[in-house]
Amino acid sequence: MLVALIIPLIESVRNGPSILIIGAGPSGIAAATKLLKNNYTSIKIFEAEDRIGGRIRSVEFGDAFVDLGAEWCHGEKENIVYDMINQYNVLRHTNLSYKLVYSNGKYIDDDVYQALIDFADSIDASVTNEETEKNCQGLQSIGECFQKQFNASFTKRYSTDSGKLKLAVDSADWLECYMATYDSTFSLQDLSRRSNYKRCEGDLRLNWNGRGYKTILELMMQKFPDTSKQLPLDERIVLRKEVTKILWRHNNSKVVVQSSGNGSDEFDHVIFTPSLGVLKASHDSLFDPPLSVEKVTAIRNFGFGATFKIAMHFPKTWWNVSELYGFVWSAEDEKKITSDFPEGPFKNGRSWLTTSTKFFQAEHNPKVMIAFFAGEMVPDLEKESDQVLIDGCMYLFKTFLGSNYSVVEPDSIIRSSWYTNPHFRGTYSYESVKGGSGSRYPEELGKPLRNEDERPTVLFAGEATHPYYFSTVHGAIESGYREADRLINLYSS
Ligand SMILES: Cc1cc2nc3c(=O)[nH]c(=O)nc-3n(C[C@H](O)[C@H](O)[C@H](O)COP(=O)(O)OP(=O)(O)OC[C@H]3O[C@@H](n4cnc5c(N)ncnc54)[C@H](O)[C@@H]3O)c2cc1C
Repeated sequence: MLVALIIPLIESVRNGPSILIIGAGPSGIAAATKLLKNNYTSIKIFEAEDRIGGRIRSVEFGDAFVDLGAEWCHGEKENIVYDMINQYNVLRHTNLSYKLVYSNGKYIDDDVYQALIDFADSIDASVTNEETEKNCQGLQSIGECFQKQFNASFTKRYSTDSGKLKLAVDSADWLECYMATYDSTFSLQDLSRRSNYKRCEGDLRLNWNGRGYKTILELMMQKFPDTSKQLPLDERIVLRKEVTKILWRHNNSKVVVQSSGNGSDEFDHVIFTPSLGVLKASHDSLFDPPLSVEKVTAIRNFGFGATFKIAMHFPKTWWNVSELYGFVWSAEDEKKITSDFPEGPFKNGRSWLTTSTKFFQAEHNPKVMIAFFAGEMVPDLEKESDQVLIDGCMYLFKTFLGSNYSVVEPDSIIRSSWYTNPHFRGTYSYESVKGGSGSRYPEELGKPLRNEDERPTVLFAGEATHPYYFSTVHGAIESGYREADRLINLYSS
């Protein structure tokens, strides 16, 4: 037994173990760069897409880079992204003032907006609030707590102001979408009230000053700030190479990987980084033998949803550049959408036009506006034509902003398709009610597969494997470093 363990280790030390990283997103790039810096040179990355970056996707559009995936560095303390980039003076605070606009074109009072955000914070799973604990005791989902608390809270708050009470009540749908965007869930009814997610302290919306979130990949690969220092990683990345099967064996130290194109390859270790969405859809066809019951339970019960982003380029800037808009429909105006704009998805009598959460100007990009949509219609929105999306956004702009601005039509758009793309199948993970209270699923997702010698042969990284920073780039990067360290420690011992 001991000999069986030692011989492959000695050979691997001499030649360097062969390591395949599946996926060139932030976790894959983090693992690869750490291994390279520690002189593990026999590494490869197979990436199914025709580009690196994964759910970091910075696209040159208008005057700068626009992010169709990750956009902000969430926090400054104990955030590896912030720690790595801070010295280069790239990140900027996002100084936009949030304006809720009513469907009669009037701006909603800032204090109503603030009360709505305070309410959202008071029921957020990552923040402990004594009153919510008392009032929502026994409720599993944020959605249930929202329904129980919302009317009671605002009826009490605006008991002497029926105008503000109506505005607040009409804002409920917008607020649900706003909250769904943060966790990328299709429904707050599926979002658990218990979560191990940890917010980093500091500004949660640090932007990349028009350079795009891709800058963090360039930094890890040492292409930024000085290209001449770049790590020899590009030649180890194989694009358009989709892994279709991972054959790992209890009684063998090698892992065989089948992929699109030609045949199969053999490696000492595989680090698997594709999203939880990919695992949900394909774990049974990807792994041979199948994954353990515990891992499959974690894959099924940890949540994974999607949001939808559109970036629109206009011939000129027609909005107030310092404002970020949220659109609130009055109950009466919402009814008119069916006849005024019947195009695009509807669900339960509700149009997709009621599911936008925010519109704001892209950084350093005066003619580009970004729009977010959330909720259960996201999969249908991804399939809509550009023209319906443009017409729908124009209808929104004219309804909400037309009385204050001369709205013009966009001349081009780019849009996300995270849910439809089989290499992602959504945006990021969240704690679902299926997991019960405060699940340990990320830890389970991050456990390696070991052969009978207890050698980790298939390792798992990726945002969903981080115990408390899941859903984020900083979580993804830490998970990549974690798995690289697992191998480095294995060989150094
Ligand atoms: C719209 C959106 C907004 C976001 N906003 C933020 C934000 O503001 N801040 C933040 O911190 N985070 C944000 N995130 C989350 C962040 O982008 C992710 O947490 C992070 O990028 C995940 O990195 P990863 O390496 O775990 O996975 P990925 O980035 O998904 O990388 C996995 C890679 O595996 C590849 N792959 C999949 N299947 C295969 C296969 N079979 N064979 C080979 N390759 C395969 C994929 O193509 C992909 O490149 C956002 C994400 C989205 C989509």
